[in-house]
Amino acid sequence: MAMYCKSCGNSITEGARFCSVCGAEVAPPVYGTYAPVPARPLVRPRTGRMIAGVCQGLANQYGWDVTWVRVIAVISAIFAGGLGAIAYVVFWVVTPEEPLALPPGQSYTPSS
Ligand SMILES: [Zn+2]
Repeated sequence: MAMYCKSCGNSITEGARFCSVCGAEVAPPVYGTYAPVPARPLVRPRTGRMIAGVCQGLANQYGWDVTWVRVIAVISAIFAGGLGAIAYVVFWVVTPEEPLALPPGQSYTPSS
């Protein structure tokens, strides 16, 4: 995607922070799907879980579709020599449960 200076209209090198012609600051590009991972802990939500909430927690954390997380987990559990199952248990052990102090029926979404 080409970028253009808002001050002089010249094309700007990808990744540059300043226009090479007029020196105006360039707004940083917005990477829609590559947004930084939200700074919140990975938890296993108490709602929407199938087994231990690992897939649901990962889906919540990274904005994935929980259906696909489960499909990939099941496929890797069956076809990758049990790797998916092992990974699931590891996540189950290392990932804390969602705090209980939340109103029921709501997943963990801290106000920013
Ligand atoms: Zn410029």
